Amino acid sequence: MSKRGLLIVVSGFSGAGKSTVTKYLVKNYPGYALSISATTRDPRPGEVEGKDYFYVTKEHFREMIASDSLMEYAEYTDNYYGTPKAFVEEQLAKGNNVILEIEVQGAFIIKDKYPDAVLVFVTAPSMETLIKRLRDRKTETEEKIQKRIAQMSREYRYIPRYEYYVLNDEVEKAAERLDAVIRSESYRTERCPEILEDIEKYLGGTK
Ligand code: 5GP
Repeated sequence: MSKRGLLIVVSGFSGAGKSTVTKYLVKNYPGYALSISATTRDPRPGEVEGKDYFYVTKEHFREMIASDSLMEYAEYTDNYYGTPKAFVEEQLAKGNNVILEIEVQGAFIIKDKYPDAVLVFVTAPSMETLIKRLRDRKTETEEKIQKRIAQMSREYRYIPRYEYYVLNDEVEKAAERLDAVIRSESYRTERCPEILEDIEKYLGGTK
């Protein structure tokens, strides 16, 4: 039987490039799965249903909450976002490390419910770079950009509660750093009780 995978929460401000990094990681490193969230926001140009998000109505979203099919959910800039539970459970049981790319409120709901989860904050090299990336994306109106900046000022106080930072200066390097964090986490003594069990089984009876 394979060992259960790790639950990894990746957050970061809009424009930090977290989805590029997580997509790159899942594509190029073995043993990872990326959770696809449900959202009530409209698809951006180029986004694909079932790949970037499951785009649902507010009514459908409320049904998902009522039927307890979300691990967590949050309201963010006037829309709902949530993590479907079944896929995550299935992948963890298969031994894959599952990445949830979610915002701050959802991250701490996950940490409360699953204290084993690892919280990682992806950062751009500077706030200046980040705001520039957001504007260069040209997918949001200035009003929406301002809403996202206001959201950042509400969120930034929570950043020190994340366990790791991953700097995203270049996507390949950021993915390598994220993989290093997750692999080190998987070697923590409390995550490997079978090693001590084996030692005890052998030595426990000897004096
Ligand atoms: P965007 O609209 O830019 O795709 O996402 C807005 C924010 O919602 C991002 O910070 C993203 O990480 C977060 N988000 C995406 N999916 C989920 C989810 O399932 N739950 C929560 N809590 N946040 C999510």
